[in-house]
Amino acid sequence: MRIDERGLEEELYRRYLEIRSPRMRAILRVQDEALSALRDFLRGEGFVEILAPIIGPVTDPGIRGAKQVTIDYYGHPFKVMSSMILYKQMAVCSLRKVFALSPNVRLEPPEALKTGRHLAEFRQLDLEVAEATYHEVMDLAERMLRYVCARVRDRCGEELEFLGRDLRVPAVPFKRLSYREAVDLLRGEGFDIDYGVEIPWDAEEHLSAMFDDPFFVYDYPKTARGFYDREDPERKGILRDFDLLYPEGFGEAISGGEREYEYERVLERMRRTGEDPRAYGWYLEMLKEGIVPSAGFGIGIERLTRYLCGVPKIWEAVPFPKVPGIPSP
Ligand code: AMP
Ligand code: MG
Repeated sequence: MRIDERGLEEELYRRYLEIRSPRMRAILRVQDEALSALRDFLRGEGFVEILAPIIGPVTDPGIRGAKQVTIDYYGHPFKVMSSMILYKQMAVCSLRKVFALSPNVRLEPPEALKTGRHLAEFRQLDLEVAEATYHEVMDLAERMLRYVCARVRDRCGEELEFLGRDLRVPAVPFKRLSYREAVDLLRGEGFDIDYGVEIPWDAEEHLSAMFDDPFFVYDYPKTARGFYDREDPERKGILRDFDLLYPEGFGEAISGGEREYEYERVLERMRRTGEDPRAYGWYLEMLKEGIVPSAGFGIGIERLTRYLCGVPKIWEAVPFPKVPGIPSP
């Protein structure tokens, strides 16, 4: 480890002391307002809040090279949730519009420390809507983010001023670029990206810095994403999914999309992504019994706080951060 990295490790180890600083107090007040705003907005839209599971026999495999955590649950290997996607699909069969503030653990590779937007432990506001299209949940996401920005600007003026943050309230609708358009834009900027791969972290940051307001990238290729994002039946290989990116270089805010919900299709997708269907017993049984089609998304809370406050690194927006590779308290 180089000296500057050691300095960073020491700083991160001692970050829990920061909660006493005026800066961290301002950040946490902004976060508190954002959480209230999210809940108020979603209740106003008819959502029901549920409590997220923390452990289970399987969890979201679509986590881009991060490792899952396995625990010994009475002799059974159980996973700590990397996201609650598989459960959301069941929940909407009952409540139609659900959300949860879901704690997630993903052991991101140690290099992810350099992005300034990856933690090993974080929270998502995860939501799902029965019988919605991906464009409908994009409409919802943009209204939600606009509402949160407006509330924070309105009620946390002092905190934002203290943090030196001039937070814009973005106008809706947000720009929507297809994955192809986004890749073409990045190629024009000198990034060597093949169609069909996930947009790399450095390119994502560059793309994000090209915009002044949040924007969507939609229609990712099947080869870039997990088995649960629904493939367009009329456009083979293209998924009915999206990301929302923050502007100013803050990068990805949200991932979402329509879900595969038919047993046979999910099995086929699992085969292609190399998942072992035997590990997904209860999930596949649920699909066999039949579930409603749905769409939804997850928005990372720590990334939202970072963006609202305009702080350079995600761990500056977290009182007890778990940064990839750093065994901090
Ligand atoms: P994903 O389904 O992997 O795109 O995760 C959903 C959302 O959770 C992302 O759009 C981010 O806002 C957030 N997120 C994902 N991974 C991390 C991480 N390692 N650290 C912080 N936030 C994350
Ligand atoms: Mg994502």
